[in-house]
Amino acid sequence: MFEAYTKSIFINGIWHEVKESATEIVYNPATLKPITQVSHASTKEAKQAIAAALKAFPAWSKKTGRERSKILYKAYQMMYEDAERLGKILTMEQGKPLKEAIGEIKGAAHFLLWYAEEASRSYGEWLPSSVTSKRLIVIPQPIGVVGAITPWNFPSSMITRKLAPALAAGCTVVLKPAPDTPLSAIEIVKIFERVGLPSGVVNLVTGDATAIGKELLISKDVRLITFTGSTEVGKYLMKESANHVKKLSLELGGHAPSIVFADADLEKAAKLVLASKFRNNGQTCICTNRLFVHESVMNDFANLLKEKVQKLKLGDGLAANTDIGPLINEQACKKVQFHVEDATKQGAIIEHGGKPWNTEELSGYYFEPTILSNVSNEMKIMHEETFGPVLPLQVFSEEAEVIDKANNSDYGLAAYIFTENTSRAIRVSEQLDYGIVGINDVFPATPEAPFGGIKQSGLGKEGGHHGMDKFLEKKFISIGIDN
Ligand code: NAP
Repeated sequence: MFEAYTKSIFINGIWHEVKESATEIVYNPATLKPITQVSHASTKEAKQAIAAALKAFPAWSKKTGRERSKILYKAYQMMYEDAERLGKILTMEQGKPLKEAIGEIKGAAHFLLWYAEEASRSYGEWLPSSVTSKRLIVIPQPIGVVGAITPWNFPSSMITRKLAPALAAGCTVVLKPAPDTPLSAIEIVKIFERVGLPSGVVNLVTGDATAIGKELLISKDVRLITFTGSTEVGKYLMKESANHVKKLSLELGGHAPSIVFADADLEKAAKLVLASKFRNNGQTCICTNRLFVHESVMNDFANLLKEKVQKLKLGDGLAANTDIGPLINEQACKKVQFHVEDATKQGAIIEHGGKPWNTEELSGYYFEPTILSNVSNEMKIMHEETFGPVLPLQVFSEEAEVIDKANNSDYGLAAYIFTENTSRAIRVSEQLDYGIVGINDVFPATPEAPFGGIKQSGLGKEGGHHGMDKFLEKKFISIGIDN
């Protein structure tokens, strides 16, 4: 057990401990052994954190972009240089293989770098007026106190993707991370503390989601909630925030289709489809949830997939040769099993895997990487987010047909196409109803570009210069002048 995390609530620059009855144990999903315990905050701490963020806002928002940039840049350096240690912590609490965890930490650090660079580039506008007696100016101003709620699947990068642009814009923040993975959040806040972020600018409350969420929703001082998580909780936040006309940014669930055309480089496509499906054990909002393969290459492609899947090694993410770690918790494992059972009951064939997996030492929530064929549209897996290592395959014959199939979803986050034909790549990507399209690319998330979904996958973008927008109000100043 780590001792270091018992004080996990950070308010106004001070680490707080709540009484012992209000603690939560954090487990390693690979072994189900406890790692540490963290404080379980509730309404009182949420109120204090909001008050601290409000108090810190005037001074932080008045700093120049350059001043804010320097702090973000130092945080980037510290995080990047500490990637190995932070990666180990991330693997222990979340389960993903260490190489993926270190990759996530470096990616998370890059959000700090990108927004350190953007901090001094938040421009206004001088608009041409239709009358000579006026001058029209638009200035960007930080929105105020921001509530940031984050999930467990990317416990570092989902935090810096919010904190970095918020801080660059001049906002102050109350952060509520997921209870399965609070340690990565604590480590990020410690970095900000070490690089001299003023007290109250970032506050951390680990604990009761409903109580903390409610405070963020009802407080008039919180001007924006930025949320990454399930569509279900996103809808709840949207409904409840209507009472205060609170601004919202929602990064929600996905159900990504991958389409392999007959003219694809099959070897490359198979490698990328597997990376998209089994990265983070399928627990990625943009991971492939449906695979459509052209009928003329289905057999060859399915064989390539099976050959490669057989080589994937399940295990503890800390072990050097692990490709796939455990699922996050029992509920996640049950959902994956339910999707496989539902599909097989309706005629799907298990081509590989299909069941939970354990050894004597590894009693965590493992599930074999699974490939299903003979899949039909009625199966739950074709509509609901599986969030696990199951790849359902369907054939198609025509381009128009597969576009319709791919768009047949309430979600609209990411879609992937594999083709060597440029005209097809452009034509199809323009017709896919998704916020992100990867062409022969399954890793589209990057600090430089806007990431976000349409339809029930969310509102707003994170990343790129677009990622600053929600943290900045545009104030219009109209000036009458004597000619
Ligand atoms: P979740 O259950 O919606 O939880 C997300 C966060 O919201 C957690 O911190 C959770 O805390 C909190 N929460 C739950 N109920 C709340 C409430 N009433 N008020 C305030 N906060 C509340 O999602 P998850 O299982 O952690 O994450 C997986 C989901 O996130 C998937 O659907 C995935 O697709 C999506 N995701 C989307 C993106 C994207 O960029 N679009 C990125 C990553 C993940 P508790 O756990 O304590 O309830």
